[in-house]
Amino acid sequence: MQDWTIRCDVLVVGSGGGALTGAYAAAASGLDTVVVEKTALLGGTSSYSGGAMWLPGTAVQERAGLDDSTDQARTYLRALLGEAESERQEAFVATAPVLVDFLERDSHIEFEYRPFPDYYRAPGRKDAGRSINAVDLPAGELGELRELIRPEPNTDRAGKPQPDTTLIGGRALIGRLLLALTSTGRADVRTRTAARRLIVEDGRVVGIEAATADGGSLTIRAERGVLLAAGGIEGNQVMRDDNRTPGDARWTMGPAGANTGDLIAAAVEIGADTALLDEAWWCPGAEMPDGSGSFLVGVRGGILVDRTGVRYLNEAQPYDQFGRAMIAHGVERSVPSYLVFDSAEGGPALPSIAIPEAPARDHLDAGTWVTAATIEELADRIGVPGDTLGDTVERFNDFSKRGTDEDFHRGEDPYDAFFCPPNADLANPALRPVATGPFYAARIILSDLGTKGGVRTDVDARVLRADGTAIDGLYAAGNTSASLSGRVYPGPGVPLGTAMTFAYRAVGHMIG
Ligand code: FAD
Repeated sequence: MQDWTIRCDVLVVGSGGGALTGAYAAAASGLDTVVVEKTALLGGTSSYSGGAMWLPGTAVQERAGLDDSTDQARTYLRALLGEAESERQEAFVATAPVLVDFLERDSHIEFEYRPFPDYYRAPGRKDAGRSINAVDLPAGELGELRELIRPEPNTDRAGKPQPDTTLIGGRALIGRLLLALTSTGRADVRTRTAARRLIVEDGRVVGIEAATADGGSLTIRAERGVLLAAGGIEGNQVMRDDNRTPGDARWTMGPAGANTGDLIAAAVEIGADTALLDEAWWCPGAEMPDGSGSFLVGVRGGILVDRTGVRYLNEAQPYDQFGRAMIAHGVERSVPSYLVFDSAEGGPALPSIAIPEAPARDHLDAGTWVTAATIEELADRIGVPGDTLGDTVERFNDFSKRGTDEDFHRGEDPYDAFFCPPNADLANPALRPVATGPFYAARIILSDLGTKGGVRTDVDARVLRADGTAIDGLYAAGNTSASLSGRVYPGPGVPLGTAMTFAYRAVGHMIG
């Protein structure tokens, strides 16, 4: 007989947005709930995130006067994803408003609509977006919990001091969910506790074995079910190689040492089926001076060229499609690419949001950026033919004058202009010329916001075997599960929105 260190009703592995939503749903229903988190900090990549949640057709969009509905969201998803996963698509859009109502009933949780365009031109799209965010959270409301929340990448990865007054984005979401969870009095949240094996009795998952920071181990029994929400395989180079997942564990945006596919491997061990393990929520990354990646989003200037000095994509398109275009171009040609930019913004400043950032001086010292007075010299410094780069820049500057990118249609979609400041001097604000020396070239690599393949699940997040039967007692959400969105990233907040919705449904199924 198994000896159990801890007994509970619901066990949740991981502490991102999906995990804490599931844990809160269980604890708020009066179930004793244990959360185990491998690292010293709570929140995972969800804490790094902008905190946008693609939860369509809810009371939040209605309060904001936005014309959104479950029907429109269903139309949009169906247009992008087709019939594949139609049952999970339906479960998702039908549950989103219910989830938001449930969460907002807790006094610690409040959401608001923030504009951020959907990523694809398709029926049902919202040009100004439909995703919602947790309202910013004054740090003082968190008390001691504050120190447990993983800070933003600029602090966690780039060592900048933590802004100390208000939590925003993903930190606000994680903070609010934690406040709600702990206030139930039903939750035992353990950091530095790494689940490493699933325990099965009579074909049912009844608990886990976990390693503790002091080198010990503990066993936790869960009567109702075990929810895996422990991220993807992004930080595990061996699993990436085995599954031919493009990119590199060094360049992923997952927190260091966090998401290494532990629970996907553990679930496979007991018979779970997997899908989409070569997939991720892609993005371009600016290579940091230490060789890691920095999420590049909202490119507002410059042009991207490959190792031969030619453009091959629309630089202002949504970041996942940008990453996919890098893969389609062939990573041997596209990694590294170079973002060639000028001094129009008044100095060596990347014409894009980069999360995290490093000072220009550090980039120039490390060689991740180079600079030159002319385009020809710049070409020489990055090892591409000077005449080719010169022609590329000239052609783009001609498009800028005419306001039309004949090659890659940059600036034609509402998303492209979203991050570009209005500029009366330009025929198209998304097409600023590359004309003011000195010039710069930043090394761009393929990064990701986490992988999106994992164990196959059903409408209630139950983990499935290859024959389609569910493994009793085992549930998965977020990047531990294969995403219903397949090889598409429909809009801002789909990773968090789907993770939270399916974690909520998992607990609903456990409760019965
Ligand atoms: P995570 O949030 O990473 O949580 C997994 C947790 O599990 C980690 O804390 C990890 O340490 C823990 N864990 C791993 N293994 C174990 C183990 N063996 N035992 C115990 N614990 C374990 N998505 C959106 O939807 N909206 C956005 O606005 C958005 N913005 C982003 C901005 C940035 C800068 C980044 C980097 C990402 C962004 N994303 C956004 C993507 C999104 O944050 C992630 O895809 C999503 O949060 C992943 O959620 P998850 O629950 O699967 O994993």
